[in-house]
Amino acid sequence: MGKKVRRIGVMTSGGDSPGMNAAIRAVVRTCAYYHTECVGYYRGYQGMINGESVNMNARSVRNIINQGGTILQSARSKGFLTEEGRARAAENLKRDGVDAMILIGGDGTFRGGQVFSKEHGFPLIGVPGTIDNDIYGTNYAIGYDTALNTVVEAIDKIRDTASSHNRLFFVEVMGRDAGFIALNSGIGAGAEEILIPEENLGLERLLDSLERSRRAGKTSSIVVVSEGDKIGKNVFELADYVKKNLPNYDARVTVLGHIQRGGRPSCFDRVLASRLSVKAVELLLDGKKDLMVGMLNNEIVSCSLDQALKGKHNINKDLLRISEILST
Ligand code: ATP
Repeated sequence: MGKKVRRIGVMTSGGDSPGMNAAIRAVVRTCAYYHTECVGYYRGYQGMINGESVNMNARSVRNIINQGGTILQSARSKGFLTEEGRARAAENLKRDGVDAMILIGGDGTFRGGQVFSKEHGFPLIGVPGTIDNDIYGTNYAIGYDTALNTVVEAIDKIRDTASSHNRLFFVEVMGRDAGFIALNSGIGAGAEEILIPEENLGLERLLDSLERSRRAGKTSSIVVVSEGDKIGKNVFELADYVKKNLPNYDARVTVLGHIQRGGRPSCFDRVLASRLSVKAVELLLDGKKDLMVGMLNNEIVSCSLDQALKGKHNINKDLLRISEILST
C-alpha cells in the first residue's frame, strides 16, 4: 500500500476536446468533497516541466461545465519525451507536495504517464479525452459525442447546398487513424459513402457506387472521408480523380478541420466526463494507481494503463453494413 494521497494534481494534454472542462470540474469538486487538496497544471506535461501550477478549490471551477476547450489549456510537450524533462516535472510535483496525478488526454498522454510512473513512482489515473475515440477500454472518450454532433450539423448544411446544385461533396472529417467520427457521422447525416481507414473501399468500388447512386436517381451525394483513410489521404486528389472518371458529377470538397474540436460539450460528454473523473479521484484515494477509467456498457470501469495502450478499440463493422443498406 502506497502513502496516503492528500494532494492530487490534474492536467489536460494532447489535442483538446469538448468536455475536458467538465472533467477538470469533476476532479476538483470530488477532491473538495473528500477533503483532498487539488492542484492544476497548465498546458499538460509542459506545465509540469515549467512548474506552472495553480491551487484549485470548488469555486475555481464554477461556470465551466458548459464551456468547450480546457481552462488548464493543453499542449504537446517535446520536453516530456526526454528523461531530463520528466525529471524536472517530478521535482516540481514534489516541490508542490503532489502525491498523485490525474491525466486527461489521449493515448500519447497515457504513454507519457506510463513512462513517468515507472521512472518516478507517482500514482496516476488516466481519463480518456479525445474526439478521435481511439482508446481501448472505453466505449466513449470525452469529446467524441460533441464532435459527432458538430460534424452532423455541418454535413446537414452541406447537404442543403449539395441538393440545390446537384453536387457531389467530399467531406473530410478528423479521427487520425480511426474511423469512428466518419462512420457514425456518416450514418447520422445519411452519407452515400463513408471512407475509413479500417476498411479499404478502393477507388473502383467508390466509382461504381457513385455511378449506381446516379442511376438510381440521386442527384446529389455526400461522401464522408476520414482523414486517415488510405484512398482519401488527399481528399482534393480524390475529388479530382472522381471528376475525371465521372464527368457527370460536379464534385466539391469541404475539410471540416478544427471546428470539430470546439463548441459547448454535449450533455452526454458532460455526464461522461463527470462520471469518469469522480471515479478517477476515488480510485486514487483508494490507493489504486496506473489505471485508466472508462465506460463500458454504461458502467464506469477501469483497466491498467498498459492494457489501454496495448489494446485496440475496434469500430463496429456492422455499421458499415447498415450504411450500405441505407444508402440504396
Ligand atoms: P490526441 O489523441 O488528441 O492526439 P494525445 O494525448 O494522444 O491526444 P499526444 O500529442 O500524442 O496527444 O501526446 C501528448 C503528450 O504526451 C506529448 O506531447 C508528449 O509530451 C507526451 N508523450 C507522448 N508519448 C510519450 C512517450 N512515449 N514518452 C513520454 N512522453 C510522451
